[in-house]
Amino acid sequence: MGTSDAGLVERIQAAGMRATGPRLAVAAALEEMGGHRTADEVHAHLVRAGTRIPRASVYNALAALTGAGICAVADVGHGPAVYEVNRGWHHHFVCRICRRVSDVDCEVGTSPCLTPDGAVGLVEQAQVIFRGICPECLAGAPDRTDAAAAGNITPEGSTREQLRTRTARTSTDRVRARRTDEEDA
Ligand SMILES: [Zn+2]
Ligand SMILES: [Zn+2]
Repeated sequence: MGTSDAGLVERIQAAGMRATGPRLAVAAALEEMGGHRTADEVHAHLVRAGTRIPRASVYNALAALTGAGICAVADVGHGPAVYEVNRGWHHHFVCRICRRVSDVDCEVGTSPCLTPDGAVGLVEQAQVIFRGICPECLAGAPDRTDAAAAGNITPEGSTREQLRTRTARTSTDRVRARRTDEEDA
């Protein structure tokens, strides 16, 4: 399917895994789709493309590929896990109206890139989630406002201070170490 199947086989094998059909299909699908995708979106993409693959196989393949560092889970807060092709450490901006996730470069480029004030323990990861309204939603594009209604989000009544949420988490226990803003339930 993708143009980089040979490269994918090599990368999966270099990670010490067998390049099984589902892993290849899922990794290729994620590259084709681009951006940040849920397992269900990857599954739907494969099914649309004529690949018969059980949903559970997509989940398993994503977990294996993520463990091997070929894919990555984009930490965008609550909701279903969102996967992307692993292109290095970075942060994310989440539009609270259309839910679109965009990459935000990390100035440090390695994790953890933030140091907490207190002695919280061994910090292994610090993920910043920028929240707000994406350029399209700011411009009031009508096709991007449906998600707001579906997600029970009210674009009105927000303040600038609410547009940023910062969380820092360890990768092992996912304990929320810091949150400076409330968030929709
Ligand atoms: Zn948006
Ligand atoms: Zn990303």
